Amino acid sequence: MAHSLTERDDTRVAVVCRWVMSSDPKQQLRIQRFMVAAINYGIFGGLLCYMAATGRVAQSAALQLIAFMVLSETTIYVLLRGGFTQNWNDPSLTLPQILLALAAAIWSYAILGESRGAALILLALTLTFGMFNLPPRATRQAAVFALTLLGATMIGLHLSNPTRHPASQEVIHFLFACTSLPTISLLSAQLAELRHRLETRKRELTEALDRIQTLATRDELTGLFNRRHMTETLHAQRALTERTGQPFCLALIDLDHFKQINDAHGHGVGDEVLRQFADIARHSLRETDVLARWGGEEFLLVLPASQLPSARTSLDRLHEAVRRSHLAPTVPALDVRFSAGLTEQRPGEPLEATIERADLALYEAKRQGRDQTVTG
Ligand code: GH3
Ligand code: MG
Ligand code: MG
Repeated sequence: MAHSLTERDDTRVAVVCRWVMSSDPKQQLRIQRFMVAAINYGIFGGLLCYMAATGRVAQSAALQLIAFMVLSETTIYVLLRGGFTQNWNDPSLTLPQILLALAAAIWSYAILGESRGAALILLALTLTFGMFNLPPRATRQAAVFALTLLGATMIGLHLSNPTRHPASQEVIHFLFACTSLPTISLLSAQLAELRHRLETRKRELTEALDRIQTLATRDELTGLFNRRHMTETLHAQRALTERTGQPFCLALIDLDHFKQINDAHGHGVGDEVLRQFADIARHSLRETDVLARWGGEEFLLVLPASQLPSARTSLDRLHEAVRRSHLAPTVPALDVRFSAGLTEQRPGEPLEATIERADLALYEAKRQGRDQTVTG
């Protein structure tokens, strides 16, 4: 099943598939894995039937093994499909499925007579399946389980029928299993180590990518968006306005007499003021507004889906918030204000022209005595 089955699929096949596989993607994955095993059981069951029909294996013995396989698979399916295992440690029932398959393989060893060597391949195949789906410890436990059960079965077979199961033959088979099964569990540990390394690498890459993303889009001092990111935002905003006809506003904000703050209290206090201003603005503006550090002590604010009156209200709120706050907690007496030039993007207008108009309005705000917003 290439895609997950959702409630939206309504063809008859999809309905049946959803009924068999469940519509929960996690459940689907578990049942898909179960299906792979079930198909193998089916093939093996068919082979057993053929062998029983051609007299290679006793019919009653074949039927008992088939009954065991059908019963165990039905139980597993009911538990998985019914969602009973969802809160269990091993919700896919991987270990129980592997142990049942190993038991079935050893059972077949007991009844296959001359062909019983083939059952050893089934053992190795089952454990290989476990290698990809189980933690190494569980694979080791499964290998120990298989070897113990196989050894006991071989002793039992030899004691009950030494002619059909000569000790030398059983020992050779056992040694074969003793070399192949532990090797598989050793490979399982290596595979787990590889998986762990890949996961670590993937996590490190994701973190590095996040860091690069932050470095590329954020201003280091204030944590606001940087000029580059804002330029992209402006282009996107303009394209949106062209498409939807919904206007947006833009404001250039500049801290008043900032140079004096630096000169009087040092660059560190100046940095503190910039950081505090960014924090206050973040809390005072709408979630959809985008603020960036445009350069030095100048900020550019985009107010999407706004017209001048509402944009002005936002800036007035910001003026109020800044007036009420101490922008430099280390110099409580410091009274910081800002001036802003506000404008609305006109349809079809190049961004440079809009920014230029905001800049002129800002110049006007400074000229009129600062600590105010002028609309341009
Ligand atoms: P106005 O009211 O006309 O805007 O006067 P101003 O003093 O704010 O403007 P001016 O352009 O004369 O000074 C801006 C100062 O901002 C100069 C520069 O040293 C300072 N500055 C720029 N970037 C930073 C920074 O990252 N940290 C600090 N502390 N100061 C900065
Ligand atoms: Mg300034
Ligand atoms: Mg300036």
